[in-house]
Amino acid sequence: MMDTLLSIQNFYFNLHVAGGILPILQNINFAIHKKEILSLVGESGCGKTVCSLAITKLLPDKRSEYQSGKILFHNENLLEADPPEMAHIRGNKISYVFQDPFSSLNPLKKIKEQILEPFLIHVSTNEKEGIEKAKFLMDKVGLSDLSQRLNSYPNQLSGGILQRVCIAMALMCDPELLIADEPTSALDVTVQAQLVDLFHDLREERGMSILFISHDLSLVSSISDRIAVMYAGEIVEEAVVEDIIHHPKHPYTKALLGTIPALHTDNDSVLQTIPGVVPTPDKYPQGCHFSARCSEAMERCEVEKPLDYTDKKMHKTRCFLYEGYHDSN
Ligand code: SF4
Repeated sequence: MMDTLLSIQNFYFNLHVAGGILPILQNINFAIHKKEILSLVGESGCGKTVCSLAITKLLPDKRSEYQSGKILFHNENLLEADPPEMAHIRGNKISYVFQDPFSSLNPLKKIKEQILEPFLIHVSTNEKEGIEKAKFLMDKVGLSDLSQRLNSYPNQLSGGILQRVCIAMALMCDPELLIADEPTSALDVTVQAQLVDLFHDLREERGMSILFISHDLSLVSSISDRIAVMYAGEIVEEAVVEDIIHHPKHPYTKALLGTIPALHTDNDSVLQTIPGVVPTPDKYPQGCHFSARCSEAMERCEVEKPLDYTDKKMHKTRCFLYEGYHDSN
């Protein structure tokens, strides 16, 4: 039996906007075990980033409504944690690498000041110790000329170097859970491959769990233990990598896999696309959120919401086509 580190249960999240209330996330259920890499995949606008930010309540306070459900970290419900408790967890027990390093770093502060900040707050006030750790981690993520990098401002470094700095910064407190949101999108494929190796090393050496967010199914298949597929504010399928890639069930997952170009096809083969676009939260259908784009939709799909149907291998699918599997919630 694997140890669960984070468990999100029946979670609903709304955003208050000028025109009313938007139901951003609906009935989210997934867990991350210790030393596990779970990837969240889906097209842009499916709610992956909001879901990851909601875990440590990083969404704008006045507009966010954590409507119901639980986010359990070590069995403590983070939705009930007070601000000092959350401040102790964020950047310390749970840390983030964001998609765009330029906007996640302060342009007015040197790298040294920014990379040391979480360490000095959560671990030790010994700056010398912090610099040693920063250099160790920067070397680990493949950076060189470390003293020079530490004394640079963000605008003096390239996107690839900054992203590695952000990864090193996220590791300064040895988090138990690293949330990496499209961390390789600013990097070329060679550096991408190095980072995939790095994430595997971190899991092995530090026993870290990783929530990896991406729209790229081929990338996540090389990094993850399990994959959760997200569509329009819901997790529609979740299983181990092998099952998602080779035995997908949900029509959306099948369609996503169909959009990946194969390496060895003739030049005339046509790349598949998914017709239509992801609905915005104000236009979520009453029934299955994928119903307007699904090639297998039935009459009931437009008006009834499917539940999660789970098979004996714990392959979970939110689709009526799999109704009748032995377990559902
Ligand atoms: Fe398609 Fe219906 Fe399944 Fe939704 S519930 S994915 S519309 S078949």
